[in-house]
Amino acid sequence: MTGLSDSFQRPINYLRISVTDRCNLRCVYCMPVGGVCPLAHDDILRYEEILTIARAAAEMGIDKIRLTGGEPLVRAGLPELVAMLAAIGTINDISLTTNGVLLARYAAELKSAGLNRVNVSLDSLKPDKFREITRSDAKLADVLEGIETAGRVGLEPVKLNMVVIPGVNDDEVLDFAAKTIDEEWHVRFIELMPVVGETENPQFVAASEMKKRIERLGKLEPCLPSVGNGPAKYFRLPDARGTIGFITPVSEHFCFNCNRLRLTADGKLRPCLLSDYEVDLKGPLRGGVAAEGLKKLIEEAVANKPQQHHIAEGDVPRRRPFSQVGG
Ligand code: SAM
Ligand code: SF4
Repeated sequence: MTGLSDSFQRPINYLRISVTDRCNLRCVYCMPVGGVCPLAHDDILRYEEILTIARAAAEMGIDKIRLTGGEPLVRAGLPELVAMLAAIGTINDISLTTNGVLLARYAAELKSAGLNRVNVSLDSLKPDKFREITRSDAKLADVLEGIETAGRVGLEPVKLNMVVIPGVNDDEVLDFAAKTIDEEWHVRFIELMPVVGETENPQFVAASEMKKRIERLGKLEPCLPSVGNGPAKYFRLPDARGTIGFITPVSEHFCFNCNRLRLTADGKLRPCLLSDYEVDLKGPLRGGVAAEGLKKLIEEAVANKPQQHHIAEGDVPRRRPFSQVGG
Protein backbone atom coordinates (compact mmCIF):
# COMPACT_ATOMS: atom_id res chain seq x y z
CA MET A 1 0.00 0.00 0.00
CA THR A 2 1.35 3.43 -0.92
CA GLY A 3 2.24 6.01 1.68
CA LEU A 4 1.00 8.86 -0.52
CA SER A 5 -2.59 9.82 -0.98
CA ASP A 6 -4.27 13.00 -2.15
CA SER A 7 -7.06 15.16 -0.71
CA PHE A 8 -9.65 12.83 -2.24
CA GLN A 9 -8.16 9.68 -0.66
CA ARG A 10 -6.72 8.46 -3.96
CA PRO A 11 -3.52 6.48 -3.43
CA ILE A 12 -0.69 7.93 -5.54
CA ASN A 13 1.97 5.40 -6.53
CA TYR A 14 2.75 6.15 -10.19
CA LEU A 15 5.20 8.71 -11.58
CA ARG A 16 5.40 9.50 -15.29
CA ILE A 17 8.66 11.16 -16.20
CA SER A 18 9.04 13.18 -19.39
CA VAL A 19 12.76 12.94 -20.18
CA THR A 20 12.72 15.38 -23.10
CA ASP A 21 10.35 17.77 -24.84
CA ARG A 22 11.99 16.98 -28.22
CA CYS A 23 10.48 14.62 -30.71
CA ASN A 24 11.33 13.10 -34.07
CA LEU A 25 7.63 13.31 -35.09
CA ARG A 26 5.06 16.11 -35.03
CA CYS A 27 1.76 14.28 -34.57
CA VAL A 28 -1.25 16.37 -35.49
CA TYR A 29 -3.03 15.70 -32.20
CA CYS A 30 -0.03 16.40 -30.01
CA MET A 31 1.87 19.39 -31.38
CA PRO A 32 0.45 22.70 -32.52
CA VAL A 33 0.80 23.23 -36.27
CA GLY A 34 3.51 25.87 -35.78
CA GLY A 35 5.58 23.45 -33.68
CA VAL A 36 6.79 24.25 -30.18
CA CYS A 37 9.78 26.20 -29.00
CA PRO A 38 12.17 23.61 -27.53
CA LEU A 39 13.41 23.99 -23.99
CA ALA A 40 17.01 25.12 -23.58
CA HIS A 41 19.41 22.27 -22.90
CA ASP A 42 20.22 23.63 -19.46
CA ASP A 43 16.55 23.69 -18.49
CA ILE A 44 16.20 19.93 -18.96
CA LEU A 45 16.69 17.80 -15.87
CA ARG A 46 19.92 15.81 -15.90
CA TYR A 47 19.61 12.07 -15.29
CA GLU A 48 21.13 12.44 -11.81
CA GLU A 49 18.45 15.04 -10.98
CA ILE A 50 15.69 12.74 -12.23
CA LEU A 51 17.16 9.99 -10.06
CA THR A 52 17.17 12.23 -6.98
CA ILE A 53 13.51 13.07 -7.50
CA ALA A 54 12.58 9.45 -8.23
CA ARG A 55 14.37 8.28 -5.06
CA ALA A 56 12.50 10.80 -2.92
CA ALA A 57 9.20 9.83 -4.56
CA ALA A 58 9.97 6.12 -4.08
CA GLU A 59 10.58 6.70 -0.37
CA MET A 60 7.12 8.27 -0.25
CA GLY A 61 5.39 5.31 -1.93
CA ILE A 62 5.88 5.65 -5.68
CA ASP A 63 6.58 2.13 -6.98
CA LYS A 64 5.77 2.49 -10.67
CA ILE A 65 7.57 4.69 -13.20
CA ARG A 66 6.89 5.37 -16.87
CA LEU A 67 9.36 7.21 -19.09
CA THR A 68 7.83 9.38 -21.77
CA GLY A 69 8.57 12.55 -23.73
CA GLY A 70 8.43 14.19 -26.27
CA GLU A 71 10.02 11.10 -27.65
CA PRO A 72 12.10 9.49 -24.90
CA LEU A 73 14.30 7.53 -27.32
CA VAL A 74 15.71 10.71 -28.88
CA ARG A 75 17.44 11.50 -25.58
CA ALA A 76 20.96 10.05 -25.52
CA GLY A 77 21.72 7.31 -23.03
CA LEU A 78 18.15 6.44 -22.01
CA PRO A 79 19.16 2.88 -21.01
CA GLU A 80 21.52 4.44 -18.44
CA LEU A 81 18.58 6.23 -16.83
CA VAL A 82 16.57 3.01 -16.85
CA ALA A 83 19.41 1.22 -15.04
CA MET A 84 19.66 4.04 -12.47
CA LEU A 85 15.92 3.85 -11.77
CA ALA A 86 15.89 0.06 -11.71
CA ALA A 87 18.51 0.18 -8.95
CA ILE A 88 15.94 1.84 -6.64
CA GLY A 89 14.87 -1.34 -4.86
CA THR A 90 11.23 -0.39 -4.31
CA ILE A 91 10.36 0.46 -7.91
CA ASN A 92 8.70 -2.67 -9.23
CA ASP A 93 7.57 -1.57 -12.69
CA ILE A 94 9.45 0.60 -15.20
CA SER A 95 7.78 1.16 -18.54
CA LEU A 96 8.25 3.38 -21.59
CA THR A 97 5.87 5.17 -23.94
CA THR A 98 7.42 5.68 -27.37
CA ASN A 99 6.47 6.38 -30.94
CA GLY A 100 8.51 3.28 -31.82
CA VAL A 101 10.62 4.82 -34.59
CA LEU A 102 13.88 4.08 -32.73
CA LEU A 103 12.64 1.12 -30.71
CA ALA A 104 14.17 -1.68 -32.75
CA ARG A 105 17.59 -0.10 -32.19
CA TYR A 106 17.29 0.19 -28.40
CA ALA A 107 14.85 -2.55 -27.29
CA ALA A 108 17.45 -5.15 -26.25
CA GLU A 109 19.61 -2.60 -24.43
CA LEU A 110 16.58 -1.20 -22.59
CA LYS A 111 15.50 -4.67 -21.54
CA SER A 112 18.97 -5.47 -20.16
CA ALA A 113 18.96 -2.16 -18.28
CA GLY A 114 15.79 -3.17 -16.43
CA LEU A 115 12.91 -1.85 -18.50
CA ASN A 116 9.83 -4.06 -18.05
CA ARG A 117 7.54 -3.12 -20.92
CA VAL A 118 6.62 -0.60 -23.61
CA ASN A 119 3.60 1.17 -25.01
CA VAL A 120 3.95 2.18 -28.65
CA SER A 121 1.87 4.94 -30.22
CA LEU A 122 0.67 3.88 -33.65
CA ASP A 123 -2.20 5.61 -35.38
CA SER A 124 -2.26 4.09 -38.84
CA LEU A 125 -1.30 0.91 -40.64
CA LYS A 126 -1.12 2.78 -43.95
CA PRO A 127 2.29 4.33 -44.79
CA ASP A 128 0.84 7.51 -46.36
CA LYS A 129 -1.61 8.10 -43.55
CA PHE A 130 1.14 7.44 -41.00
CA ARG A 131 3.24 10.21 -42.59
CA GLU A 132 0.27 12.57 -42.72
CA ILE A 133 -0.57 12.09 -39.04
CA THR A 134 3.03 12.26 -37.85
CA ARG A 135 3.84 15.17 -40.20
CA SER A 136 7.16 13.46 -40.87
CA ASP A 137 9.17 11.25 -43.21
CA ALA A 138 9.46 8.55 -40.57
CA LYS A 139 8.77 5.04 -41.74
CA LEU A 140 5.83 2.98 -40.55
CA ALA A 141 7.97 -0.11 -41.22
CA ASP A 142 10.45 1.04 -38.55
CA VAL A 143 7.67 1.28 -35.97
CA LEU A 144 6.36 -2.18 -36.89
CA GLU A 145 9.88 -3.56 -36.59
CA GLY A 146 10.20 -1.84 -33.20
CA ILE A 147 6.99 -3.50 -31.99
CA GLU A 148 8.18 -6.89 -33.16
CA THR A 149 11.63 -6.47 -31.60
CA ALA A 150 10.20 -5.27 -28.29
CA GLY A 151 8.04 -8.40 -28.07
CA ARG A 152 10.94 -10.63 -29.04
CA VAL A 153 13.29 -9.29 -26.36
CA GLY A 154 10.58 -9.61 -23.70
CA LEU A 155 9.38 -6.02 -23.21
CA GLU A 156 5.90 -7.44 -22.78
CA PRO A 157 3.07 -6.95 -23.05
CA VAL A 158 3.63 -4.45 -25.87
CA LYS A 159 0.58 -2.19 -25.82
CA LEU A 160 -0.31 -0.15 -28.89
CA ASN A 161 -1.97 3.24 -28.42
CA MET A 162 -4.09 4.56 -31.28
CA VAL A 163 -5.53 8.07 -31.00
CA VAL A 164 -8.74 7.97 -33.02
CA ILE A 165 -9.12 11.13 -35.13
CA PRO A 166 -12.46 11.52 -36.87
CA GLY A 167 -12.18 11.75 -40.65
CA VAL A 168 -8.45 10.95 -40.51
CA ASN A 169 -7.89 7.45 -39.15
CA ASP A 170 -11.20 6.36 -37.65
CA ASP A 171 -11.74 4.21 -40.72
CA GLU A 172 -8.87 2.03 -39.42
CA VAL A 173 -10.44 1.16 -36.06
CA LEU A 174 -11.69 -2.12 -37.53
CA ASP A 175 -8.27 -2.93 -39.07
CA PHE A 176 -6.54 -2.46 -35.71
CA ALA A 177 -9.23 -4.48 -33.93
CA ALA A 178 -8.94 -7.28 -36.51
CA LYS A 179 -5.19 -7.46 -35.87
CA THR A 180 -5.91 -8.61 -32.29
CA ILE A 181 -7.55 -11.79 -33.56
CA ASP A 182 -4.53 -13.55 -35.03
CA GLU A 183 -1.70 -11.66 -33.37
CA GLU A 184 -0.98 -10.90 -29.75
CA TRP A 185 -1.61 -7.20 -30.24
CA HIS A 186 -2.93 -5.25 -27.26
CA VAL A 187 -4.52 -2.24 -28.91
CA ARG A 188 -5.88 0.68 -26.91
CA PHE A 189 -8.11 3.17 -28.64
CA ILE A 190 -7.80 6.65 -27.16
CA GLU A 191 -10.39 9.39 -27.50
CA LEU A 192 -8.90 12.54 -29.01
CA MET A 193 -8.33 15.24 -26.42
CA PRO A 194 -8.17 18.96 -27.26
CA VAL A 195 -4.69 20.23 -28.17
CA VAL A 196 -3.39 23.53 -26.90
CA GLY A 197 -3.42 26.21 -29.59
CA GLU A 198 -5.63 24.21 -31.97
CA THR A 199 -9.40 23.88 -32.18
CA GLU A 200 -10.19 23.62 -28.53
CA ASN A 201 -13.36 21.61 -28.93
CA PRO A 202 -12.41 19.09 -31.58
CA GLN A 203 -14.71 16.36 -32.72
CA PHE A 204 -13.88 13.01 -31.23
CA VAL A 205 -15.13 9.49 -31.69
CA ALA A 206 -16.55 8.22 -28.41
CA ALA A 207 -15.52 4.76 -27.25
CA SER A 208 -19.18 3.67 -27.35
CA GLU A 209 -19.19 4.38 -31.10
CA MET A 210 -15.86 2.57 -31.63
CA LYS A 211 -17.23 -0.46 -29.78
CA LYS A 212 -20.33 -0.51 -31.94
CA ARG A 213 -18.19 -0.54 -35.06
CA ILE A 214 -15.82 -3.22 -33.73
CA GLU A 215 -18.69 -5.52 -32.78
CA ARG A 216 -19.19 -6.11 -36.50
CA LEU A 217 -16.23 -8.48 -36.01
CA GLY A 218 -17.82 -10.31 -33.07
CA LYS A 219 -19.01 -9.68 -29.52
CA LEU A 220 -16.54 -7.87 -27.28
CA GLU A 221 -16.17 -9.76 -24.00
CA PRO A 222 -14.82 -7.78 -21.03
CA CYS A 223 -11.47 -9.04 -19.76
CA LEU A 224 -8.78 -8.02 -17.29
CA PRO A 225 -5.61 -6.24 -18.40
CA SER A 226 -2.63 -8.60 -18.67
CA VAL A 227 -0.61 -6.16 -16.57
CA GLY A 228 -1.13 -2.78 -14.91
CA ASN A 229 -4.29 -1.13 -13.69
CA GLY A 230 -4.42 1.97 -15.88
CA PRO A 231 -7.45 3.81 -17.19
CA ALA A 232 -8.28 1.48 -20.11
CA LYS A 233 -11.25 -0.87 -20.05
CA TYR A 234 -10.32 -4.13 -21.77
CA PHE A 235 -12.21 -6.50 -24.04
CA ARG A 236 -11.45 -9.46 -26.28
CA LEU A 237 -13.01 -10.54 -29.55
CA PRO A 238 -14.06 -14.23 -29.66
CA ASP A 239 -10.95 -16.48 -29.60
CA ALA A 240 -8.67 -13.48 -30.18
CA ARG A 241 -5.02 -13.72 -29.10
CA GLY A 242 -4.80 -10.01 -28.27
CA THR A 243 -7.00 -7.53 -26.43
CA ILE A 244 -8.78 -4.25 -27.14
CA GLY A 245 -8.81 -1.41 -24.65
CA PHE A 246 -10.66 1.90 -24.62
CA ILE A 247 -9.33 5.02 -22.95
CA THR A 248 -12.09 7.57 -22.54
CA PRO A 249 -10.75 10.88 -21.21
CA VAL A 250 -13.53 12.81 -22.92
CA SER A 251 -16.70 10.69 -22.85
CA GLU A 252 -16.16 9.13 -19.42
CA HIS A 253 -13.36 10.51 -17.28
CA PHE A 254 -11.48 8.15 -15.00
CA CYS A 255 -10.18 10.76 -12.55
CA PHE A 256 -11.66 9.01 -9.48
CA ASN A 257 -9.08 6.25 -10.01
CA CYS A 258 -6.11 8.44 -10.91
CA ASN A 259 -2.90 7.41 -9.15
CA ARG A 260 -0.47 9.55 -11.19
CA LEU A 261 2.00 12.36 -10.91
CA ARG A 262 3.89 13.76 -13.90
CA LEU A 263 7.36 15.22 -13.97
CA THR A 264 8.02 17.49 -16.94
CA ALA A 265 11.37 17.53 -18.72
CA ASP A 266 12.14 20.90 -17.11
CA GLY A 267 11.49 19.63 -13.63
CA LYS A 268 7.94 20.66 -12.81
CA LEU A 269 5.72 18.22 -10.94
CA ARG A 270 2.20 18.13 -12.38
CA PRO A 271 -0.45 16.30 -10.44
CA CYS A 272 -2.86 16.36 -13.41
CA LEU A 273 -2.19 16.12 -17.15
CA LEU A 274 -5.17 18.34 -17.86
CA SER A 275 -4.49 21.15 -15.41
CA ASP A 276 -1.78 23.81 -15.67
CA TYR A 277 -0.97 23.61 -11.95
CA GLU A 278 2.68 22.61 -11.39
CA VAL A 279 5.21 22.65 -8.56
CA ASP A 280 8.79 23.51 -9.47
CA LEU A 281 11.32 20.91 -8.30
CA LYS A 282 14.26 21.87 -10.51
CA GLY A 283 14.89 25.32 -8.95
CA PRO A 284 14.96 24.02 -5.35
CA LEU A 285 16.98 20.97 -6.43
CA ARG A 286 19.62 23.12 -8.09
CA GLY A 287 19.50 25.44 -5.10
CA GLY A 288 20.59 22.54 -2.89
CA VAL A 289 17.31 21.51 -1.25
CA ALA A 290 17.67 18.43 0.99
CA ALA A 291 15.65 15.23 0.43
CA GLU A 292 13.14 16.26 3.13
CA GLY A 293 12.53 19.58 1.35
CA LEU A 294 12.00 17.77 -1.93
CA LYS A 295 9.48 15.47 -0.27
CA LYS A 296 7.57 18.49 1.08
CA LEU A 297 7.28 19.83 -2.48
CA ILE A 298 6.06 16.45 -3.71
CA GLU A 299 3.48 16.43 -0.88
CA GLU A 300 2.38 19.93 -1.92
CA ALA A 301 1.76 18.80 -5.50
CA VAL A 302 -0.16 15.74 -4.31
CA ALA A 303 -2.26 17.82 -1.92
CA ASN A 304 -3.26 20.08 -4.82
CA LYS A 305 -4.15 17.31 -7.26
CA PRO A 306 -7.50 18.38 -8.73
CA GLN A 307 -10.48 16.12 -8.15
CA GLN A 308 -11.11 15.83 -11.89
CA HIS A 309 -10.52 17.52 -15.22
CA HIS A 310 -13.15 19.49 -17.13
CA ILE A 311 -12.14 19.11 -20.78
CA ALA A 312 -15.66 18.05 -21.77
CA GLU A 313 -16.77 21.57 -20.72
CA GLY A 314 -13.98 23.16 -22.79
CA ASP A 315 -11.65 23.77 -19.85
CA VAL A 316 -8.28 22.78 -21.35
CA PRO A 317 -4.76 23.35 -20.05
CA ARG A 318 -3.10 26.15 -22.01
CA ARG A 319 0.46 26.32 -20.84
CA ARG A 320 1.98 23.27 -22.55
CA PRO A 321 1.21 20.91 -25.42
CA PHE A 322 1.10 17.18 -24.61
CA SER A 323 4.54 16.81 -26.22
CA GLN A 324 5.93 18.65 -23.18
CA VAL A 325 4.02 16.74 -20.51
CA GLY A 326 4.19 13.24 -21.90
CA GLY A 327 0.52 12.46 -22.54
N1 SAM B 1 6.42 10.24 -28.06
C1 SAM B 1 5.86 9.21 -27.29
C2 SAM B 1 4.66 8.58 -27.98
O1 SAM B 1 4.17 9.16 -28.93
O2 SAM B 1 4.25 7.52 -27.52
C3 SAM B 1 5.50 9.61 -25.89
C4 SAM B 1 4.85 10.94 -25.67
S1 SAM B 1 3.21 11.08 -26.31
C5 SAM B 1 2.81 12.74 -25.84
C6 SAM B 1 2.32 10.06 -25.18
C7 SAM B 1 0.92 9.71 -25.56
O3 SAM B 1 0.12 10.86 -25.59
C8 SAM B 1 0.80 9.04 -26.89
O4 SAM B 1 0.30 7.74 -26.71
C9 SAM B 1 -0.19 9.87 -27.62
O5 SAM B 1 -0.97 9.03 -28.35
C10 SAM B 1 -0.92 10.60 -26.50
N2 SAM B 1 -1.52 11.86 -26.94
C11 SAM B 1 -0.87 12.98 -27.34
N3 SAM B 1 -1.75 13.94 -27.70
C12 SAM B 1 -3.00 13.42 -27.52
C13 SAM B 1 -4.32 13.93 -27.74
N4 SAM B 1 -4.55 15.16 -28.21
N5 SAM B 1 -5.36 13.12 -27.44
C14 SAM B 1 -5.15 11.87 -26.97
N6 SAM B 1 -3.93 11.34 -26.75
C15 SAM B 1 -2.85 12.11 -27.03
FE1 SF4 C 1 6.00 13.12 -30.65
FE2 SF4 C 1 4.65 11.33 -29.21
FE3 SF4 C 1 3.71 13.79 -29.56
FE4 SF4 C 1 3.76 12.18 -31.64
S1 SF4 C 1 2.56 11.86 -29.75
S2 SF4 C 1 4.45 14.33 -31.61
S3 SF4 C 1 5.54 11.02 -31.25
S4 SF4 C 1 5.51 13.28 -28.46
